[in-house]
Amino acid sequence: TETLKITNLHVAVEGKPILRGVNLTINRGETHALMGPNGSGKSTLGNVIMGHPNYEVTDGTIELNGEDISEWDATERARAGIFMAFQRPMAIPGVKMADFLRHATTNVRNPARKEGEELIPMRQFRKELTEKMEQLRMDTEFARRYVNDGFSGGEMKRAEILQMAMLRPKFAILDETDSGLDVDAVKLASQSIAQIGKETAGGDQMGILIITHHDKLLDQNTPDFTHVMLGGKIVETGGVELAHELYTDGYDRIRASYPEAA
Ligand code: ADP
Ligand code: MG
Ligand code: MG
Repeated sequence: TETLKITNLHVAVEGKPILRGVNLTINRGETHALMGPNGSGKSTLGNVIMGHPNYEVTDGTIELNGEDISEWDATERARAGIFMAFQRPMAIPGVKMADFLRHATTNVRNPARKEGEELIPMRQFRKELTEKMEQLRMDTEFARRYVNDGFSGGEMKRAEILQMAMLRPKFAILDETDSGLDVDAVKLASQSIAQIGKETAGGDQMGILIITHHDKLLDQNTPDFTHVMLGGKIVETGGVELAHELYTDGYDRIRASYPEAA
C-alpha cells in the first residue's frame, strides 16, 4: 500500500523554528485526526507536506512511497496525488471554478501533461462536475463563479471539498474544513469526505489527515489515529476516544503532561 511518511521533520519560517521533530506515517485507507491548540503548528505541517514555498525544511524527510519529496514543488506533489484543503483558501479573481477544476483535474489525471497540451474533454468534464456537485448538493451555478472570490467562509470550504472530489487524491490534508460551516453543513461535509475517500482512483482508498478542533467532521470519518500537536511536536497519539476527550475537555491535560513542549 502507498505511504506518506514524515520523519523527524523540523521546519522554520523566516528563520523561526516552528516544527521541532514531527514523525507521522499515513497509509492509504487510513484516517488520521490532528488536533492541538492554536499556534501549535498544525497548518504548518499541512502546508509543508503540500510544498508551500515559505516553509524551510531544516531537518528530516517527507517521503511518498519511500521517495523523499521534500524538494519537490507544490505542483509536482499535487500531480503525485497529494491534496490539501487550506484553512484560508486563496481567491483567484478572473478564474472560474469550472476552468480551474478542469485544469487541476487534467494535471492530476495526466501527471506527464505539459502546459498547453489538451485538457479533459469538455463534455466528460462537465458530466463529472455536475455529478459531483449534485452529490455535494451544490448549485451548479457555483462553478461559474471566480475561485473563492467573495465566497463566504462556508462556500470556500465547500469549494475545497468539490476540488477534492474532482481530483480524487491519494492523500488529502483537510485543514479545519469544518470551520465556518453550520451544523448541517458539517454533517454533509463529513459524509462527503467519507464518500470521496472511498472513490479514489486506483482502487485503494484515500489516506486522510483531518486537522480539526471539533469531533463532528469525524462522525463519518472515524480516525484510526488521533494525534495531538503541541509546540511543534506530536506529543500524543491515540484512537478516536482521544479526539472526543480533547473536544470535550480541552488541552489542559496535554499541556500539564508535556510541559517541555508547551
Ligand atoms: P496552528 O495551525 O496549529 O494554529 P500554525 O501552523 O498556523 O498553527 O502556526 C504555528 C506557528 O507558526 C505560529 O506561531 C505562527 O504564527 C507561525 N507561523 C506559521 N506560518 C507562518 C508564516 N507564514 N509566517 C510567520 N509565522 C508563521
Ligand atoms: Mg488554528
Ligand atoms: Mg491552523
